[in-house]
Amino acid sequence: MGKLFEEASETTEPAGPARVVAVAVNANIWSRESGFDYLWPEGFGEPALGQRVRVPFGRGNRKTLGFVTETQRTPGDRKLKTIAELLDPKPQFDRTLRQLGQWISQYYLTPLGMTLSAMIPSAVGRHASPSETVVYLQGGRSDWPTSLGARQKRVLDELFEARKQGIEPLEMAALLRHSGATRNSVTRLVRRELVRLENRPVSLPELSDQAGKDPFELNADQKTAIADLTEKLGTGFSATLLYGVTGSGKTEVYVRLIRQVIAAGKQAILLVPEIALATQTLQRLLKRLPRVAVLHSGLSDAQRAFYYEQIRDGHAAVVVGPRSAIFAPARKLGLIVVDEEHEQTYKQDTAPRYHGRDVAVKRASIAGVPVVLGSATPSLESLHNVQAKRYDILRLPHRVKGLPMPRLQIVHLRKEMQRGRIELLGRTLTLKIAEALDRGEQIILLMNRRGYASCVFCPSCGWTFVCENCTRAMVFHQTMQLAMCHYCQHTASLPEACPACGGKIVYFGYGIQRIENELSRKFSAARVARMDSDTMTSPKQFRRVFDEFARGELDILLGTQMVAKGLDFPRVSLVGVASADTSLTIPDFRASERTFQLVVQVAGRAGRAELPGEVIVQTLHADDPAIRFASNHDYDGFASWELPLRRQANLPPFSRLVRFVARHRDVDKAQRGAEDLAKGLRAALPGGSAKIVGPQPAGVFKIRDRFRFQILIITPTAGVVQQHVGPLMPQILRDNPAEIIADVDPVQLM
Ligand code: ADP
Ligand code: ZN
Ligand code: ZN
Repeated sequence: MGKLFEEASETTEPAGPARVVAVAVNANIWSRESGFDYLWPEGFGEPALGQRVRVPFGRGNRKTLGFVTETQRTPGDRKLKTIAELLDPKPQFDRTLRQLGQWISQYYLTPLGMTLSAMIPSAVGRHASPSETVVYLQGGRSDWPTSLGARQKRVLDELFEARKQGIEPLEMAALLRHSGATRNSVTRLVRRELVRLENRPVSLPELSDQAGKDPFELNADQKTAIADLTEKLGTGFSATLLYGVTGSGKTEVYVRLIRQVIAAGKQAILLVPEIALATQTLQRLLKRLPRVAVLHSGLSDAQRAFYYEQIRDGHAAVVVGPRSAIFAPARKLGLIVVDEEHEQTYKQDTAPRYHGRDVAVKRASIAGVPVVLGSATPSLESLHNVQAKRYDILRLPHRVKGLPMPRLQIVHLRKEMQRGRIELLGRTLTLKIAEALDRGEQIILLMNRRGYASCVFCPSCGWTFVCENCTRAMVFHQTMQLAMCHYCQHTASLPEACPACGGKIVYFGYGIQRIENELSRKFSAARVARMDSDTMTSPKQFRRVFDEFARGELDILLGTQMVAKGLDFPRVSLVGVASADTSLTIPDFRASERTFQLVVQVAGRAGRAELPGEVIVQTLHADDPAIRFASNHDYDGFASWELPLRRQANLPPFSRLVRFVARHRDVDKAQRGAEDLAKGLRAALPGGSAKIVGPQPAGVFKIRDRFRFQILIITPTAGVVQQHVGPLMPQILRDNPAEIIADVDPVQLM
């Protein structure tokens, strides 16, 4: 990895009188200037900023994607390489997107070329072929031989990951790009019958001109919100937090606002969490809004490119999609909406590690348009921005049609268990399920089990292993075979037997499948669908389950956090949270916030129509404030309890974090890389401007055979690291033996 930095010029061919331009290449390489110098062939016409080109790059002169970042460089005496290919006769990016790319590159500490290429689908501008090859995974993981080559393994991993996200098949070109494999590897996998190919015609999505009438009158709160937001349309940048409780009709506010934007001849971008694209929310939007381009992850390259052009040329009026939709080339942008702004899925986990919400706000400010951030459980960052008067706030404090909030009951799981025996569905929840089934009503059950952590627990006396410093539950770490406090990182070896009663210790982590078994044992007649990444293997399957549930052909929808979000089913009267503790024990200072959000959001699925809603929350931490506040739907209470703690600990939103991870297969190199980096960071940051914690082993020490060390930088305000470290990245990373990852405003600290 020593090659993270190269000289700012590529040298081989003699420099003539020809024109020289700067090109930002798509590579993880920092250059001191905006790009590397290249000769511009005369036959290419006038160069323009943002034009895509392919250039010979690096020692092997591999043809690499790049973007023109300067059209007129003064030729030095270095010999320069010549641009090989011009991809766009006209640049795809307008000024706003170029500026946005610059900002993302700088703020998220990612080379500009990498950033810009992440912003544009690679198929854009290519000649669309009438058919495409798609790849299916055959069988499951257990069928994979151990003797696979690395590339073949990556292909399978890619397909498997996609399947887990509900996407299958993958288009060949996209698969090869993401796995870095060649067609050859796929052919071998076909021969081994591990994957299967299919040819299908490319079907281009249609943009419908239809938009249904408004189905009902807005209520008073909605009217006030619309009136306020309407005033903001067309008057430049503003950021508004729309804080509306679950079922308060936020979606309706977005729809009517967007219709005004369209009527004024402009375009709108609506960001939604990925899962929302499989739910009725999307159907509702499509019914009410004309010419909507839906950018979901199931699109093929050709379809994506087609939409991209429709948006750029102004044919699409509305763009709906997950975080990357914020890069849609809407030139007549009039409004950006970010639904469920608190969702951590808005954070990208590969470079550039941007946050979709924050990029949305930045884009709105560059483009001079309003941005609306909606949530029933706003992130504390956004609330803090309201308190600092950077954002406005609008409230929808009531459910529509005067419906009451569902009643929450907290159940202490230990009290519900028989001595020495672990039941996942306690007495109360079991009884409530039986009653709801008898009444012919529907039930949503949440089991958000995270695979890596469970607490250490004695079922006979109820003793739980807690941290001696923080009195928080210690979490069992399989890889290290020890218990760890996710707050202070304190570790301890596991007790052999219960220190209180000498009983047998169990690792009390339980999964959704055990609940499924328990349901079928206790309620054999109930029709249950399990919704998790193992059962949901394509977007179609999501849709099918949601549709069946909507038609009343299912009684119980059991799922991970997938079922917590945005669902609107009128016949759901009972919501059960099998364990509120799964997110309470994540190794993160946001554990409380996540727990609060999850419980409130899933509770919000109950009682959305005439049937009154009831929510049962099972927990081992019944007096945890996050759970207590959630049980009263008390967001303000939660915020005023949690914010002072964050302030005291100097954590976001009262500070900013930048996290660096050094990783390598060789543990020494990973560690040395982290130490070198820390040295560089200490030298670059002026004394007192930042606190540097680490290097220390990352919460998850080893991922995919690579050891990880982390350095956390805490600064009082945004931009400190960017300002002092950013320009020095080439030097700081030179000769570093590890692979270095920068994560600005991280949402996960593992
Ligand atoms: P939220 O996004 O705030 O959770 P939704 O926008 O999903 O809420 O609204 C909840 C339900 O109420 C939806 O079925 C929606 O169609 C309906 N609804 C929204 N506004 C009104 C209104 N003013 N009158 C009647 N029903 C409404
Ligand atoms: Zn601790
Ligand atoms: Zn015990």
